[in-house]
Amino acid sequence: MDRKVRGEIRSFMRGLVRRNPGEKEFHQAVREVIETLMPYVLENPKYKHAQILERMTEPDRIIIFRVTWEDDNGEIRANRGWRVQFNNSIGPYKGGLRFHQDVNLSVLKFLGFEQVFKNALTGLPMGGAKGGSNFNPKGKSDREVMRFCHSLMIELHRHIGESTDVPAGDIGVGGREISYMFGQYKRMENRWAGILTGKGISYGGSLIRTEATGYGCVYFMQRMLERTGDGLAGKLCSVSGSGNVALYAVEKLLHLDAKVVTVSDSGGFIHDPDGFDAEKLAWLKDLKEVRRGRISEYADHVPNATYHAGERPWSVPVELAFPCATQNEIDGDDAALLVKNGLRALAEGANMPSNLEAINTFLDAKVLFGPAKAANAGGVAVSGLEQAQNAQRLAWSREEVDRRLQEIMTQIHEKCVTYGESENGFVNYVKGANLAGFIKVADAMLSYGVV
Ligand code: NDP
Repeated sequence: MDRKVRGEIRSFMRGLVRRNPGEKEFHQAVREVIETLMPYVLENPKYKHAQILERMTEPDRIIIFRVTWEDDNGEIRANRGWRVQFNNSIGPYKGGLRFHQDVNLSVLKFLGFEQVFKNALTGLPMGGAKGGSNFNPKGKSDREVMRFCHSLMIELHRHIGESTDVPAGDIGVGGREISYMFGQYKRMENRWAGILTGKGISYGGSLIRTEATGYGCVYFMQRMLERTGDGLAGKLCSVSGSGNVALYAVEKLLHLDAKVVTVSDSGGFIHDPDGFDAEKLAWLKDLKEVRRGRISEYADHVPNATYHAGERPWSVPVELAFPCATQNEIDGDDAALLVKNGLRALAEGANMPSNLEAINTFLDAKVLFGPAKAANAGGVAVSGLEQAQNAQRLAWSREEVDRRLQEIMTQIHEKCVTYGESENGFVNYVKGANLAGFIKVADAMLSYGVV
């Protein structure tokens, strides 16, 4: 990178940090994008002249509100709710809601910012947004979760709509939470409209939406490997997390004959050297989705498996890695260890799971690195397909949705190669994803004039 580009990046980031003090996750997400975009923006003065980077890093609006609810003991609780409507240049806002005690504005701005690029990559007409609450659903009863979701929707309903903003799930928001929120919206507005995705199949949900992020991530990995003449069969894999994305990534890897030896949660990780199979996965799904238990219980259930409290799975030697839990779960040391142990490729199921040092370590080692914006776009893509089905008042078959998901992941992969391939044939998927997403959104913004 030459001095002029470095100077421009420094000066841009100084301004961004000054305007958004303390928002370290947001700074990190923007820095990753700016480092790959700045050379292109300087070569194409129309973007610089229109201050496109400054405009793309400023959300269209941020809505912040109180969510008051009553727990099972009759105590009154107050949480905070947010919706960050980041950019609707290419379609209505779209992006998940996260319920987790650590949610704050910085986290939601980083997620909303990345969502803009990711949604553009899918080829579907969707802008980017993110929202949620610092509500912690763990340990809460169903009735408490219901009262919280109903209360949140009392404010959120004013800001969403099928042509305005269509939220979905994310960490802590699965089918149960979406259903409670959708029911409340319907009751308040007296209309049935596809204003949330991830709905139950009997009331407007799409087949494969639950599986889409995990499946899509594995399809993306498959495309990266195929391009180098390789495949998934027989590959040793680690997965982190044991939520929606992780479990369906494991499921698809098993369908495609890979061997998966780890899963995790915020307490630690499981190493099963024999690998998961359909029966063990069914047990895990029941544990996490029905009993809402902890991953440590797996080690008591399966003889050869070990539980490693307080650790992440990156010390286990594997060829392929799928971080599917949360942001910044792979640092530079983890990345160096994975590379030393023979890592060949990594696809990010979670959003921003690798920090900047980790990304650079992977790229320097010529690991095939599928960034979240591309590799986990399958979830939002099938959300877009759910919106399309709702608008048509139709429901497509499982095969039809899966075929479209595979097609979309293939196209995203192709866009990354178009913009990220270097002369020696190595593909920098980070650069490819950032550039392809940027050009689509930036050109739409330019065509609107000064808005
Ligand atoms: P879930 O709530 O279903 O699962 C989250 C998993 O990550 C759980 O196993 C959880 O463990 C673990 N986890 C959460 N926080 C931490 C932490 N601080 N440290 C270690 N582990 C943690 O969420 P999803 O599977 O839906 O989401 C996972 C990731 O994928 C997120 O980054 C999300 O933004 C991203 N994503 C999700 C999409 C979707 O369609 N759901 C779409 C695109 C991206 P525990 O149970 O202990 O909290």
